Amino acid sequence: MIITQKRELKDLMENIKDYKSFFLVGCSECAALCGTGGEPELSAMKEELEKQGKQVTGTFVAKTGCQVLGTKIELKKTSKEAVENADCILVMSCGAGTQTAVELFKDKAVYVTNDSLFLGNMSRLQMFDERCSLCGECILDKTGGICPITTCPKGLLNGPCGGTNEGKCEVSSDIECAWVRIYNRLNDINRLDDMKKTVEPKNWAAHKKPMKLNVREQSSSKKDKA
Ligand code: SF4
Ligand code: SF4
Repeated sequence: MIITQKRELKDLMENIKDYKSFFLVGCSECAALCGTGGEPELSAMKEELEKQGKQVTGTFVAKTGCQVLGTKIELKKTSKEAVENADCILVMSCGAGTQTAVELFKDKAVYVTNDSLFLGNMSRLQMFDERCSLCGECILDKTGGICPITTCPKGLLNGPCGGTNEGKCEVSSDIECAWVRIYNRLNDINRLDDMKKTVEPKNWAAHKKPMKLNVREQSSSKKDKA
């Protein structure tokens, strides 16, 4: 999931000072779980804006804010008038959800209320850890399923470095050394020989910005070749 954090309210208020009426958009998936864009956060934002003399024409929590077509259909069904009556849209989700709104509300100003931080795993309620950096060419098959690109601060493909100390990382004693974790994991699954294999330099071109994937096109070209 995409981990988001609320931005400073005073910065948001500065950004939106020229607008009077707002439609608020949240997301029931990642933003709701992060406590940045579910129903309670939208209600709190509505209250805050009204306290500051602004008008809120409506609120809407998208099922999945980064799903453009689905969000468009939901919005049309539930909030057409409220959207029309607003002169600014506030999006309380991630940067992807915000750009859905930019695409859907072509004639409205759109502002984001959150910073998007990373792709995270939720270990406990509202506790998130980064495990994958979406590098485009996964090496987990070579590292016992633990990602050194993300969980080693140096992103070492072959490790550990000389700074590892009693299982901790030299960058911070709060971080377990990713390569000690990899070693222990390989040991546990009787794959320690994999430690002797050098991981080849990564093809960073596998992650070109902006990434695109059209699964339907891919499967029809596979069918044509078969
Ligand atoms: S190698 Fe790491 S960053 Fe790359 S896809 Fe796999 S888990 Fe994600
Ligand atoms: S101590 Fe371990 S986790 Fe830290 S930088 Fe070195 S190899 Fe990476």
